[in-house]
Amino acid sequence: MSRIAYVNGRYVPLRDASVNVEDRGYQFADGVYEVCEIRDGRIVDMPRHLARLKRSLGELRIAAPMAPAALEAIIREVIRRNRITYGIVYLQITRGVARRDHAFPTTPVKPAVVVTARSLNFARSEDNAANGIAVVTTPENRWARVDIKSVSLLPNVLAKQAARERGAYEAWFVDRDGVVTEGASSNAWIVTRDGRVVTRPADHSILSGITRTVLFNVLEALQLKLEERPFTLDDVRNAAEAFVTSATQIVMPVVRVDDGQVGDGKVGPVARRLREEFHRFAHFS
Ligand code: PLP
Repeated sequence: MSRIAYVNGRYVPLRDASVNVEDRGYQFADGVYEVCEIRDGRIVDMPRHLARLKRSLGELRIAAPMAPAALEAIIREVIRRNRITYGIVYLQITRGVARRDHAFPTTPVKPAVVVTARSLNFARSEDNAANGIAVVTTPENRWARVDIKSVSLLPNVLAKQAARERGAYEAWFVDRDGVVTEGASSNAWIVTRDGRVVTRPADHSILSGITRTVLFNVLEALQLKLEERPFTLDDVRNAAEAFVTSATQIVMPVVRVDDGQVGDGKVGPVARRLREEFHRFAHFS
């Protein structure tokens, strides 16, 4: 079955799905995106993703291309046409098409909208979660507004590639003070030896992950202690557990960081439990 994409008002086979070469997303990475998990054919936490999308658009002064309900209808239609039961839906909005000039177009152009969806391999995700993943660290070299979910992801691309080349699954950015900011495509967490669950505050230096905010609700319900504070690589070395969160990984245990094992080098009980419980607290629509 050929995959179907939504591109600027039309549903087209993926091989025919294309955008204008002067789309500002293509030329300047002048756009934003969202990724939602699809589980049992339903969308996980869509209201929070759409709220973050609105914020990202606002920060870049890109006009919303349509009402949230219309966008939601397109997202559902793409999922339906691609018959996804377990996977992801990807939504991208760029400032639109205009003659190449760094400054915004002087006559307003319509934002460009692309939606795609694809299946993920459930067994492989569960396998990764059962074994835990390895992470490598890399110097933080991104711009100062990574709280905006922009498609400008070159440092993340290079970090992820460095991870792959070193046999790891994710890369953690570490700033000059030795503080872990976040992963190339996930938020970073540790569990201290006395059971406190730690993640850094969502300021401008990380993306405020939707999975991260839902996990706050999970922690509260399970009466686990949350500490929103920066943590360093030394803290990671002393931690009992570590894990990452994202819409595609949910809670993914980390068992190695660079050359050192985390805790006893096995998937820990806190990460395992949070992964098991997560979808009880997620919103399905
Ligand atoms: N941080 C970065 C840089 C990401 O790219 C992502 C997701 O892709 C996240 C964090 C996690 O965000 P979410 O939980 O909303 O998927």
